[in-house]
Amino acid sequence: MKTEAAILWPDADEWSVEEVELDPPRHADEVLVRMAASGMCHSDEHCLTGDLPVARPLIGGHEGAGVIEEVGPGCTAFAPGDHVVFGFVPACGSCPSCASGHSNLCDSGARITGGLQADGTTRHHARGQDLRTMLLLGTFSRHTVVNVMSCVKIPDDIPMDKACLVGCGVTTGWGSAVYAAEVRPGDSVVVIGIGGIGAAAVQGARLAGAERIFAIDPSEFKREQAQRFGATHVAASIEEAFGLVQEVTWGRMADKIICAMGVGHGNLMPGIMALCAKLGTVVVTNIHPALESEVNISFLDLTLMEKKVVGSIFGSANIRYDIPKLLELYRNGQLDLDGMVTRTYPLADINQGYQDMRDAKNIRGVLVYD
Ligand SMILES: [Zn+2]
Ligand SMILES: [Zn+2]
Repeated sequence: MKTEAAILWPDADEWSVEEVELDPPRHADEVLVRMAASGMCHSDEHCLTGDLPVARPLIGGHEGAGVIEEVGPGCTAFAPGDHVVFGFVPACGSCPSCASGHSNLCDSGARITGGLQADGTTRHHARGQDLRTMLLLGTFSRHTVVNVMSCVKIPDDIPMDKACLVGCGVTTGWGSAVYAAEVRPGDSVVVIGIGGIGAAAVQGARLAGAERIFAIDPSEFKREQAQRFGATHVAASIEEAFGLVQEVTWGRMADKIICAMGVGHGNLMPGIMALCAKLGTVVVTNIHPALESEVNISFLDLTLMEKKVVGSIFGSANIRYDIPKLLELYRNGQLDLDGMVTRTYPLADINQGYQDMRDAKNIRGVLVYD
């Protein structure tokens, strides 16, 4: 069938929206999905800039919700008409990581940067070439074929332009606070960077009972937005936050720190560690440049103060457990997804959407398909 998608061609520095030929699902573990909405996550921008090394040509997008239109021969896991959200790391359910409750680290995730179907081929083609898909999804396409391991069925009444957010940013941010940082009632929490992930981390900290939530972002708009999601204090920079956190916590500093910047840098870590209390935890959720190998941290500080630095991918969450739960929190009014969608765009305006992201105009921009 013919469809339309935003493609990153070799050497291109913007998305090209054009007609694509899409093959039907070939195997029992493949489904064809008509996309309803896709968040414009920073990670797709990282593919464009090279911060995330990926093979091209590539259809971008990995934060999506849609409706299953067709299933592969013999597929019993899903049926046409099912509403689904994609997890950006597939969850097979049976590898050691999945079996031990860490499906965000599913062994099948090793394949995601390759962007090929499980049988090593592609379903999308354009200009006579095979197109890989971002994290095996390619949600910047009106239709896509994905593996059932990436799909989570959701209730039909949840609006898709909000549901898509739990496919990456919201689950990542919320889980960074609730699971990776283990925020507890009464904690002081710092969230650095208020994009889609940071805004969700603020909400996760609030839901987990944090007493104080410090949001750090250079953008005045994002600092304002952070307060709507539950931040009690804001600062424009890590340096500015130091005096504020010191004053408000009577010098104890923050119990939990969540790094949710566009891109982290090793030279920021001394300032971040200085915000951290004794026994505190610093969660590194944002990516760092792939080739970065130097980070200046005092390991004596780790020993003497029992500080911890931990990494977290996809909020350390389990998609089949956490995605339905987060959408239930949304339905109950406890998780604000509506406020996280600053603007929506048609697919044709994707480059404008990413420019708005670079200009810090959006918490999240969302592509909405007609
Ligand atoms: Zn993402
Ligand atoms: Zn697995």
